[in-house]
Amino acid sequence: MATKRVPVKEILHRLSQMYPDAKCALHHRNAFELLIATILSAQCTDARVNIVTGRIFPTYNRPEHFAALSPEEIGEMIRDCGLWQSKARNIHKTCQLLVERYGGEVPATMEELIQLPGVGRKTANVVLSNAFGVPAIAVDTHVLRVSNRLGLADAKTPEETEQQLMQRIPREQWSQAHHWLIYHGRQVCHARNPACSECDLVDLCRYAQASVPPGRNRKARRLARTGTADTASNHSIDSAAKGDDRTMIRVGDEAPDFTLESTQGTFRLSALRGEKAVVLIFYPRDNTPGCSRQLSAAQAALAEYEAHGAQVAAVNPGSLASHEKWACNAGFSFPICADAGKKVAEAYGVLKPNGGIQRTVFVVDRQGHIAWAQEGMPATEEILAAVDAAAQG
Ligand code: SF4
Repeated sequence: MATKRVPVKEILHRLSQMYPDAKCALHHRNAFELLIATILSAQCTDARVNIVTGRIFPTYNRPEHFAALSPEEIGEMIRDCGLWQSKARNIHKTCQLLVERYGGEVPATMEELIQLPGVGRKTANVVLSNAFGVPAIAVDTHVLRVSNRLGLADAKTPEETEQQLMQRIPREQWSQAHHWLIYHGRQVCHARNPACSECDLVDLCRYAQASVPPGRNRKARRLARTGTADTASNHSIDSAAKGDDRTMIRVGDEAPDFTLESTQGTFRLSALRGEKAVVLIFYPRDNTPGCSRQLSAAQAALAEYEAHGAQVAAVNPGSLASHEKWACNAGFSFPICADAGKKVAEAYGVLKPNGGIQRTVFVVDRQGHIAWAQEGMPATEEILAAVDAAAQG
């Protein structure tokens, strides 16, 4: 780990001074309401969840109440939250299990909580910490980003980050540290353009002290390799040059249209033609460290993509159920399409001879043409530059 000399104690002290009133932002009166609110928050702002639960909880506030409803009826109540169909199914099944196995009470152990549908370690930690007073660190996108920037962790996944934070932060501060990091991520250490010049931690922060931000390092290395500085126009996926027989697709080609089921309902690429550019991410496998990092970066930059007139969508041959579980746990609110037959991957030339998927990002312009393509994990700045170039071209 590269965190040996990180002044953990001083960082925590300053965070405690900066956010003395930090607490769980989800409105709840008991463990059950917090469990439901946390499941709903997976891809939704806490403010919106509070609006939704403010409507629901006066009438429906016990597992028996939700277990007596159909998933469709629950779905109608939570439509304002993303991924509402899978969340409705999970809430229904979870409430049935709470009634059948636990007498209508929420269990107070990690082992039992993560057996409930829609409940991963993050949700379980939120419930354990806030409802039962059990020291825990729930790692959401803010905690993951801020703790790794500061050097409190040096990890790629929420699970690794949680383990490292638990090793480095005194147990009695776990729960508060989780809230401090969330507050700091929301208010100062934004995913893009962190406000380092206004940050009270700037003299302690590993990210701020690095001479070149990580994203630019990656870009610089790639540009050195490719020998071009025009990342927004010159790339193509030339599989023939790689010695396999993948179909070649080039910048300027019409993007193969497709219609697939996704975590956000049916996704049809051509439905966005004339409306938006599309950042299309092909990734190898659900819920692996690299893919989690790539899709978390896409999620963190959704507002920027939207502001630049682009929508993000991901494609992978995994099942819709697998995508939904991952999206729900990780909080991905963009469509993740189930390309079960790998036909779309084949059409885009990202299907490898061994059946695997070549990790690739395409930008499809508003006219439906491939405007840019890059294998690997291009930085958000590169993709945004390609989106802008496509809009001007
Ligand atoms: S100095 Fe910058 S990167 Fe570091 S914690 Fe503050 S805002 Fe985040």
